[in-house]
Amino acid sequence: MRYAMVIDTKKCVGCSDCVVACQNENRVPIGYCRDWVIEHAKGAFPNVSIELRSERCNHCENSPCVRCCPTGASHYEEGGLVMVDRGACIGCGACVQSCPYNARFSHPEGYVDKCSFCNHRLKEGKSPSCVSVCPTNCMYFGDLNDSESQVSQLLKNRDWKVLAPEVGTKPQVYYLI
Ligand code: SF4
Ligand code: SF4
Repeated sequence: MRYAMVIDTKKCVGCSDCVVACQNENRVPIGYCRDWVIEHAKGAFPNVSIELRSERCNHCENSPCVRCCPTGASHYEEGGLVMVDRGACIGCGACVQSCPYNARFSHPEGYVDKCSFCNHRLKEGKSPSCVSVCPTNCMYFGDLNDSESQVSQLLKNRDWKVLAPEVGTKPQVYYLI
């Protein structure tokens, strides 16, 4: 099992429903976020286009956040999920500093938090809440080790990118372009 999220930047309309769904599902405190939408201008005038992108933790295969954690609170779980054990987290913030994607935040309750790919929903056979609410169905979730899965097929048949591949973290959120 290798969980991955695939997001079609051609279909995203920037509505932020994914952000609201995540905040409700994961009781994210006001002023913080586990996912967010950015607008990225591409090209040069007059041939400029805007890419809309829903971003979150990339559940990297080679995660600096896991490597630097002094207590083991940040760890890998089944399917390559990168998770934080709140009970073991001492809130030192090393992982927050190490993440090239600014995907983590220090929760007011004293631990570090971030996207979990809605691990609790996956255990119930559901998709992450952001994926389930997207009105344009631009987000896909599944197993990259299954060559017949929707995510595998999309990456096989479409052009895609990951964010900051040069830092070597092997992100598992893929953007169709
Ligand atoms: S995006 Fe950041 S927090 Fe998420 S696994 Fe990668 S390095 Fe860690
Ligand atoms: S803040 Fe918590 S999860 Fe992050 S490095 Fe420190 S102990 Fe580990």
